[in-house]
Amino acid sequence: EQDVAEYRKSLAIRVSGFEVPRPIKTFEDCGFSTQLLNSIAKQGYEKPTPIQCQALPIVFSGRDIIGMAKTGSGKTAAFVLPMIVHIMDQPDLKKEEGPIGVVCAPTRELAHQIYLETKKFCKSNGIRVSAVYGGMSKLDQFKELKAGCEIVIATPGRLIDMLKMKALNMLRATYLVLDEADRMFDLGFEPQIRSIAGQIRPDRQTLLFSATMPRKIEKLAREILTDPVRVTVGEVGM
Ligand code: ADP
Ligand code: MG
Repeated sequence: EQDVAEYRKSLAIRVSGFEVPRPIKTFEDCGFSTQLLNSIAKQGYEKPTPIQCQALPIVFSGRDIIGMAKTGSGKTAAFVLPMIVHIMDQPDLKKEEGPIGVVCAPTRELAHQIYLETKKFCKSNGIRVSAVYGGMSKLDQFKELKAGCEIVIATPGRLIDMLKMKALNMLRATYLVLDEADRMFDLGFEPQIRSIAGQIRPDRQTLLFSATMPRKIEKLAREILTDPVRVTVGEVGM
């Protein structure tokens, strides 16, 4: 335990919550399939970043997480890699429909970046990823979603539109990511986030990432996450 504390300190990781899983040192420690390890190597990722070292084992253990680390610290892979494993673990993957992983991001640019990062890891496993954000034809998105996907990466407003149009259903969604939650709040997406979370089964796993943690986000996190582990890397603002 002393070693764990020192290792966390060396990476500037702080955690709170009960029974926090210990941080990993290598991607191999995650027990990824050879295929996924190869995709990770292909990206040129040699070792996990500090947020990945601590977030990956927490998410793999099934816990909800509140993650705070500065821009460029590798938060995307910290939620994308466990999402892929979670999906690959599902029996009868192609027999039912609707996304299993749902990722919300504040802007179309961010949603698109996450989409590209996710696609890189889905080249060899058959997982279908759909991007849903403004600026694209609603009809095209409707058709794509109707054709089926396991992961949807969306801005909150457009996802709500698609849900209203019944382009997709959340019946088998079990993994919800709220990326850059503070910016989603600043853009006024709180009602949409609550609505989306309300449409996904309560026993889902929920991951919330934010650069800052103002009171209103604390409050939302308390309402839509279950016993989250909080992870902070480095200094973050309030
Ligand atoms: P954040 O969401 O925290 O701002 P990103 O997930 O966008 O950061 O990652 C920033 C950059 O770092 C991206 O180009 C990503 O491909 C790269 N990256 C992520 N994880 C690793 C890693 N373990 N090793 C090397 N590069 C990484
Ligand atoms: Mg990010």
